[in-house]
Amino acid sequence: MYIDLLPVFDKEGERIELGFSFRPDDECFATPVSVTGSIENRTGIVRISATAKFDYAAACARCNKPLLRHATVPVRHILVPELTEEDDSDEYIVVEDRKLDVDALVSEDVYLAIPYRLLCKPDCKGLCSICGADLNEGPCSCEKPTDPRWDALKDLLN
Ligand SMILES: [Zn+2]
Ligand SMILES: [Zn+2]
Repeated sequence: MYIDLLPVFDKEGERIELGFSFRPDDECFATPVSVTGSIENRTGIVRISATAKFDYAAACARCNKPLLRHATVPVRHILVPELTEEDDSDEYIVVEDRKLDVDALVSEDVYLAIPYRLLCKPDCKGLCSICGADLNEGPCSCEKPTDPRWDALKDLLN
């Protein structure tokens, strides 16, 4: 969705309320991303200040269990019609032709907020590397490979 920011760039105090949702083109999103907030010109500086909420699906990095998580992501940037040298920072977003592709802007923040590696719980025991059993449900009957250092110790004790 494109928002025409010409009136906001032109006039101090001008404000656009945001309340919309969109579905990013990625199957990890279990719900649309819903965005609320505003774009406002305060003392000549135009800011977007919004919150994006959505649910996403992932799998535990250790046991592969499907997970569904809720995320609330702040979207805060300063919007400028063009960059001057002082503005050269990640915080600034250049809005070409005064038209903001707000879905694209929110998507960037949303993708950065999704963790690359998720665990179903911090102490997930994962799967047995031999039989594939879920070790969170109890030990499996596989022989654990023995550490040769223990064998040496056993020989000493015998
Ligand atoms: Zn797990
Ligand atoms: Zn096993």
